Amino acid sequence: MHEASIALGVLEIAVDNCRKAGYNRIESIRLKIGKASGIMPDAFLFAFNAVKADTIAAEASVIIDEIPVSGLCNKCGKDFVTEEKYILCCPECSSASFNIKTGRELEIIDMEVF
Ligand SMILES: [Zn+2]
Repeated sequence: MHEASIALGVLEIAVDNCRKAGYNRIESIRLKIGKASGIMPDAFLFAFNAVKADTIAAEASVIIDEIPVSGLCNKCGKDFVTEEKYILCCPECSSASFNIKTGRELEIIDMEVF
């Protein structure tokens, strides 16, 4: 499952940032995961709990903010937000020409370190 390599990537960034800031323990990590990112939060948490063992993040709790998919239609100009994971056309006018604005993120929002 690809969440394992993603979890490892997030862990490395978190550990790196924590060390660079001069701290040596991560207490919590808050993440933004877009619904269209292809990452399942449950699978991510499971994978993260596995990879964090024996690191400075071993005790870290992970909080995930799920970001809904939103976009702007190029045809009718409507901003839209959907609860769906994927969007194939504008919910207003069914045009397939639109720009995704949110929903693909995978970012660390903030961390608590000691
Ligand atoms: Zn539209």
